[in-house]
Amino acid sequence: MGTRWGEGPVWLPAVRRLRWSDIPNDRILEYDAGTGRTTAYREDAGFANGRTLDLDGAVVECSHGRRAVERDDGAGPVTVVDSWQGRRLNSPNDVVVAADGAIWFTDPPYGILSDKQGHVAPPEYGGCHVFRFDEHTGRLDAVVTDMIHPNGLAFSPDGRVLYVSDTSVLHLPDGHRHIRAYDVVGGRCGNGRVLAEIRPGCPDGFRVDERGRIWTSSGDGVRVLAPDGSVVGAVAVAEAVSNVCFGGDDGRDLYITGATSLYRIRTATRAAARG
Ligand code: MG
Repeated sequence: MGTRWGEGPVWLPAVRRLRWSDIPNDRILEYDAGTGRTTAYREDAGFANGRTLDLDGAVVECSHGRRAVERDDGAGPVTVVDSWQGRRLNSPNDVVVAADGAIWFTDPPYGILSDKQGHVAPPEYGGCHVFRFDEHTGRLDAVVTDMIHPNGLAFSPDGRVLYVSDTSVLHLPDGHRHIRAYDVVGGRCGNGRVLAEIRPGCPDGFRVDERGRIWTSSGDGVRVLAPDGSVVGAVAVAEAVSNVCFGGDDGRDLYITGATSLYRIRTATRAAARG
């Protein structure tokens, strides 16, 4: 079962399945690690993109079509947050849940620029931010406001650094293809700096492993970066890669969402707890 643009992988340990998005076909797929079969989990899926698990193990995912972050506990998606200061979000792209349960997500415009990955619509708040949502208080804070098109995001293993990719090179000649790092203190981000530029292609989604290394997508596979941004490894893939996640019974399988296909490779590491 091929995809037109696979994205948003998450490992579901309870059912030993890898769930991911086929955004242009507006469906969500699942690969069953036990049977090796792939099935459609949901059609007409609101142009779902990135997803992760919350502290209770429920799926939290981004919807381009509904311009929202949602939770899906199996009974269908429920809105978590869809507006900031009274204005609609652009099209949440990728999401991570911090150790305190707060939901952090990126909000570039890819779901409102065309009808291929969402629905054409004007942006409402005039930026593309990274947000932190506290479900207990209902408070949504813009925590990163200096990026053009923030896309993938993940924390360092100790939660003290947030990594965010910028994929604005896809639409802007002078756009970025880099990953930035921010120091996180008290739910706020500071000291933003460029960690690495990724070529060919650009860094869409990525995950952090238990030793703090960043496994990032690129135009020809996966790059592994040390916490200082230097390249320490690579996984060659014969097409552009959008994202990765760790899974399997021991957490050491790396699942890779390529444009058309899902890949898996054994590794000697595993995900950071909230990476
Ligand atoms: Mg993405």
